[in-house]
Amino acid sequence: MIKIIKNAEVYSPSYLGKKDVLIAGGVIENINDSIEIKGNVETEIIDGEGKVLVPGFIDGHVHILGGGGEGSYKTRTPEIMLSNIVKYGVTTVIGCIGTDGITRTMPSLVAKCKGLKEEGISCYILSGSYDVPVRTLTGSIKEDMLFIEEIIGVGEIALSDHRSSQPLKEEITRIIADTRVAGMLSGKGGIVQIHLGDGNDKINMLNEIIETTTLPIKHLMPTHVNRNKALFAECIEFAKKGGAVDMTISPHPYDLGDNQVKCSKGLKEALEAGVPIERITFSSDAQGSLPKFNDKKELIGLGVGNMEYLFKEVADAVKVENIPLEEAVKVITLNPAQTFNLKGKGEIKEGFDADFVLLDKESLAIDGVIAKGQTMVRNKEVIVKGTFE
Ligand code: ZN
Repeated sequence: MIKIIKNAEVYSPSYLGKKDVLIAGGVIENINDSIEIKGNVETEIIDGEGKVLVPGFIDGHVHILGGGGEGSYKTRTPEIMLSNIVKYGVTTVIGCIGTDGITRTMPSLVAKCKGLKEEGISCYILSGSYDVPVRTLTGSIKEDMLFIEEIIGVGEIALSDHRSSQPLKEEITRIIADTRVAGMLSGKGGIVQIHLGDGNDKINMLNEIIETTTLPIKHLMPTHVNRNKALFAECIEFAKKGGAVDMTISPHPYDLGDNQVKCSKGLKEALEAGVPIERITFSSDAQGSLPKFNDKKELIGLGVGNMEYLFKEVADAVKVENIPLEEAVKVITLNPAQTFNLKGKGEIKEGFDADFVLLDKESLAIDGVIAKGQTMVRNKEVIVKGTFE
C-alpha cells in the first residue's frame, strides 16, 4: 500500500512549504504541491492540514540493552521497549553499552539492535563500552565495522570520569585511528563517542591528540558535554575547531543542577559563540542509569533516562530561545545522520527512508510518527507496540 501525507508544512529540515509527500515501499517517492493517484491503487491518505512534517528523530546515544548497575546488580536498568522510542518521535536509535561492559555484551547488543529493526524502526550500534581495551564482537574494531552492518563506530569510551578505565592517551589515539580507517573501508562515519564525566581533566586528552597527531577531529564525538558549565565552555571551543559535540537531555528539566547546561539554552549559547549548528547533536541517554554521587563518590540515588525531553528541548529552543524550527530540529535529524553517515536518514528527500514526525503547528506536540513508511503513532497514540508490550 502507498501513503500520501497531504497538506503538511514540510521542514526537510529546510522549509519546503505546504506539500504532499508520497510514500511507497518504506521510501519517500515524491514531494509535490499536490499528488493524486489515478487508477485502482490502495492508498492511505494522512491529513497533514494544520500540521508540521519533520524528519523522524535520530537519538544518537541510547542504552538499548539497559545500563547502569553502579549500585550493584539490582540497579541494572531494563532493556528499552519499542513504544518508549516511537512515542517520542524517534525512528532511529544508536545503541551503546555504558559502565558495565561485562554483563552487557556485544552479542546481546547486536541481537537487541536486530530485534528493534524487526519491530519496525532503524537501529545502529557502537562497539565497546566505557572500557579500554575495547571489548568488540569479533576481536577487532575494524572487523566489527567491516563485517557487521549495524556497527558504525566505537563508544561510549569513558574519559575524565572516576568510572572510566583511566586509559592512556596512546590507547585512545589507537582507538580513534582504527575506527577512522574502519569507517573509510566500510563507508561508515567512523565516530568514536566519548563519554565525559565531571573530572577536572575535561577534554584535555582529546585536545592533545588532535594537536599532536594527524587524526582529523571530525571522528571524535564527546557526549554529555553539557553536564557542567566549565566542561561545556571547553567543548564549545572543541566544536569551533571542527569536533562534533553531543548534548545530553536532562531526565527532567526541573531537575537540572545549578551547574548543568539545559540543552536548548546551550544550543543558543553555542550558536552565539560561532559554532556551526552542523556540529551539534542532542541525545537522550535513555535507559541509562542516572546515578547520583556525593562528593566522596558514593552512590546516593538512581534514576533511569528516557527520551521524553529529546524533542521537548528542541521545541524549547524554538519557543524560548527563538531559534527557527528548521535550524533547531537539525540537532536530532540531519546532524546525527551526517555525522554518523547514516544513508537515507535525517532528511525529507526523495529516495530517503520514509521516517517522519507530524507535529501540531502551534503547540509542536507530537501527533503522528511514521518509521520506514509504517505508522507507529496516530493521533498521539502508539499503535505499534513491541513484541512483549
Ligand atoms: Zn555516558
